[in-house]
Amino acid sequence: EADKIYLLNSVREIEDFPKPGIKFKDITTLLGDAKAFTLLIDHGDAKAFTLLIDHLVDRYSTMKIDYIAGIESRGFIFGAALAARLKTRFVPIRKPGKLPYTTISEKYSLEYGVDEVCIHIDAFSAITTSKPRVLLIDDLIATGGTATAAVNLINKAGAECVEACFVINLTFLQGDLDIKKTTSVYSVLEV
Ligand code: 5GP
Repeated sequence: EADKIYLLNSVREIEDFPKPGIKFKDITTLLGDAKAFTLLIDHGDAKAFTLLIDHLVDRYSTMKIDYIAGIESRGFIFGAALAARLKTRFVPIRKPGKLPYTTISEKYSLEYGVDEVCIHIDAFSAITTSKPRVLLIDDLIATGGTATAAVNLINKAGAECVEACFVINLTFLQGDLDIKKTTSVYSVLEV
């Protein structure tokens, strides 16, 4: 519990970003572990990012994860760090026009308009004897639109999303309700 408070305090809130009325959770201070917050709670030499990745390693080291799929772009930071610690593979899920090889994609609706996530068609081809087991990771779930589309994309690409993991869940938006219909959801911090 003290660790969760520590992590939560390492996230900075930016008012009116990227639009007026939005309070953006800035995770760069968690990555860089802002000194002001480390002084708040005596945590020896523990740093927020290490604390978080250690926690995720504990949770996922026994779950037989073949791939970690990270959502552009902050999902890459946590996903790549975790994949390296678990000695497993990392797959990027990206916005259109970024991936160089043949892609498959999934559209999802925003408040105004649509967006799309893409993955390489052969992203999970290293595992051939069984359905690849994929952990999806992103920094934050808000409405859940991005993550739900990403889970659908993983399934379309022939793999199984065994869990969707978020560092922060904005629970008041109930964005995890939809995604829970297709996979299990784990959030480290709920605000
Ligand atoms: P959703 O599709 O769930 O509404 O939005 C989640 C996506 O938007 C995630 O990829 C996440 O990185 C980004 N996002 C939305 N709001 C925030 C925020 O307050 N802080 C951060 N770090 N990311 C956000």
